[in-house]
Amino acid sequence: MNTIKHVFFDLDNTLWDFRKNAKFALAELYIKYDVETKHGFSFDEFHPYYHQSNEGLWAQIRDKEITKEELRARRFKQAFDNLGIDDDELAAIFEEEYMETITNYNEVVDGAMELLDYLKPKYSLHIITNGFIEVSKRKIESSILNGYFQTVTYADELKILKPDPRIFSHAIEKSEAKKEESIYIGDDWIADVVGSKKFGMSSIFFDRLNDNFSMDDVPTITHLDEVKNYL
Ligand SMILES: [Mg+2]
Repeated sequence: MNTIKHVFFDLDNTLWDFRKNAKFALAELYIKYDVETKHGFSFDEFHPYYHQSNEGLWAQIRDKEITKEELRARRFKQAFDNLGIDDDELAAIFEEEYMETITNYNEVVDGAMELLDYLKPKYSLHIITNGFIEVSKRKIESSILNGYFQTVTYADELKILKPDPRIFSHAIEKSEAKKEESIYIGDDWIADVVGSKKFGMSSIFFDRLNDNFSMDDVPTITHLDEVKNYL
């Protein structure tokens, strides 16, 4: 892959450890609103329900079945309902405070800094994210990811989400890159890998959850360290 000049990354769960930071933020809210005392379920009992609800709804956004507003209205209500807590007011409070709270936490994915330090002298680095624009900006600017990226493309800028090839095309233009000199690294098989391949870029699949999808010409890695085998 020695023709590569530009490396594009997904943000959430590829570089910024969304799952870990979300868990810290939710644990903070769970204590703040005394949910265990009021409803009898511990945070460890609640968390898998939230994870299931949130991941499912994000997959529906990606597949254009629901909007981000619907996700925000539903993820906590669904998680609490499924656990057996019928408290719509609590669900609304969690949604209202969650995005603010999560930015108190800025853990990056294991190996992210080492990888960016290794790549930065050799390549132009960029991000393409489906996350909310204000939140994504804050994640980059207030974490140790700040200063590594020449461009960041937010899906909200275009109102188009990965895997739509137009977002990759826009990012390439914005970076003054060429697709044949660019590679995309992400943890979502459809949004990141299928999307970038459909657009015509090389791609690396970061298989953090052992999804085991595969495609010809797409290397799979399970730790960011392994990117060095290809770049
Ligand atoms: Mg991701």
